[in-house]
Amino acid sequence: MKIARTVDLTYANAPGPHLAVWFQGCRLRCPGCINKQFQGYGHEYPHTHTVRQLLGNEVGEAANLARRGVVLTGGEPLDQSTTELLELCRGIKRAGLGLTIYTGWTRAEIAADRWLCRLFALADLMICGPYQQDNEEPCQPLCGSGNQELLLLSGFYGYAELLKMPAGEILISADGSITTGTGL
Ligand code: SF4
Repeated sequence: MKIARTVDLTYANAPGPHLAVWFQGCRLRCPGCINKQFQGYGHEYPHTHTVRQLLGNEVGEAANLARRGVVLTGGEPLDQSTTELLELCRGIKRAGLGLTIYTGWTRAEIAADRWLCRLFALADLMICGPYQQDNEEPCQPLCGSGNQELLLLSGFYGYAELLKMPAGEILISADGSITTGTGL
């Protein structure tokens, strides 16, 4: 899987302490995307991980550190190998962690795919739909534009706690400051 970066502790992408994984590559190229550097599939981002590596390292550590869950975002998680993505999601749930997925695919597009529709049974929370910069007023928490849909797919997270989440956060990494926010 092509990984742009991981952050082992974020509070702004799902409720509570989470590991976040930003995938590299997104076919949608939404105007106004704030993660343009994660759109390309080129060789400038050579961080490839196998599912086994991700589960054994980042996800395993998140479970050991009592993180509440894992956030998959990007870039576009659904542009990765479907087999690997489903395997990763199953591993996250086997580890007892919550699973949040941000995707530019709409709910209808995911439902129409015989394999990706399985994400609805694995994820606890999904934010679906492409970012629309001329439709900027989000109707629901975690969404970046008004067309996006928030799906609470299990009882793992509650709607009320989504409303209490920070709108953004600043994370300081070894190589400088990184800003991360919601609705990506
Ligand atoms: S789906 Fe997300 S990552 Fe992809 S171009 Fe749109 S805003 Fe950017």
